[in-house]
Amino acid sequence: MFDALLLTQEDKRTFAQVSQITEADLPEGEVLVDVAYSSLNYKDGLAVTGAGKIIRQFPMVPGIDFAGVVRESTDARYQVGDQVILTGWGVGENHWGGMAQKARVKADWLVPMPQGCDAAKSMMIGTAGLTAMLCVQALQQAGITPQSGDILVTGASGGVGSVAVTLLANAGYRVVACSGRVEQNAPLLKELGAAEVIDRSELEQDAKPLEAQLWAGVVDTVGNKILAKALAQMQYGGAAAICGLAGGFALPTTVMPFILRGVSLLGIDSVSCPFEKRKAAWEAVIKALPAHFYQQACQQISLAEVPDFANKIIQGQVTGRVLVKL
Ligand code: NDP
Repeated sequence: MFDALLLTQEDKRTFAQVSQITEADLPEGEVLVDVAYSSLNYKDGLAVTGAGKIIRQFPMVPGIDFAGVVRESTDARYQVGDQVILTGWGVGENHWGGMAQKARVKADWLVPMPQGCDAAKSMMIGTAGLTAMLCVQALQQAGITPQSGDILVTGASGGVGSVAVTLLANAGYRVVACSGRVEQNAPLLKELGAAEVIDRSELEQDAKPLEAQLWAGVVDTVGNKILAKALAQMQYGGAAAICGLAGGFALPTTVMPFILRGVSLLGIDSVSCPFEKRKAAWEAVIKALPAHFYQQACQQISLAEVPDFANKIIQGQVTGRVLVKL
């Protein structure tokens, strides 16, 4: 028997409880992993609270991320004792996930632990950090350099946002962090490398089709009016890497930034990101993240604390990354 956070549903309400399950309860897969850590992402918050229709089949073990050691494998790519990471692929959504002391998954979904990393560190990064790296790489591939101008990061105190601020600042970009919690989080965001922290309210009013050109690049985790405003404020030839919807999935914009300023919208998905690109992004983010990030922007919780933190993350009350110890 081992511990798992089990989600059940009654009268359309989701309940989360630490329960005892067995290996026989786990779904099929080629690799059985002893999970050391999971992490809490916005999507886990939606799943655990039931605030978003993330899970359609109950009971379910949530946890879109985990890291641990291979206990059994029928796939030649993974041997007993190998350290592995899993993020995405619908794990924790439609296949039992990382918030359990064991997980059985498809070998195709795993990534070998990159050199210089361990389970705890990899889950401080997690889906959020991987996604932040994919956003930064997309901007770089679009030709946005530190000389191009300022980069706006929205939802800056969240998981994706805090890693993006750190990665961009470390790569020499001038980062403007946009946050709804300036008073609380400006000191941390500046420590992570933001040159400036602006209040979310500055970007929340309706956007004109085109406004003053402020941003060479954007990493957007919130969508909706804030993204629309940022797009109207993009410099000629700028690019926006968009990955999130913490402020809503709408995008009330016009074609103007795209057809008059040649702005590019770069969609970022980490869930089904192909293996080679995923592996390269993992190696890059581990290499690029400075040691101070892990100390300043991460906290550790137990499995029993997940439901409480799930509520907090969907209410926008979590700062940085949350590591879940199994
Ligand atoms: P977090 O909750 O850690 O961060 C989101 C941040 O957005 C908050 O900290 C807050 O920052 C801001 N925010 C929260 N609510 C609102 C609101 N109503 N309006 C505007 N801003 C708000 O989540 P993650 O970093 O884990 O994920 C961020 C987003 O990215 C989510 O929508 C998530 O689903 C998505 N995502 C997408 C991935 C992909 O593959 N495409 C992968 C990972 C995440 P502040 O207080 O500083 O304003």
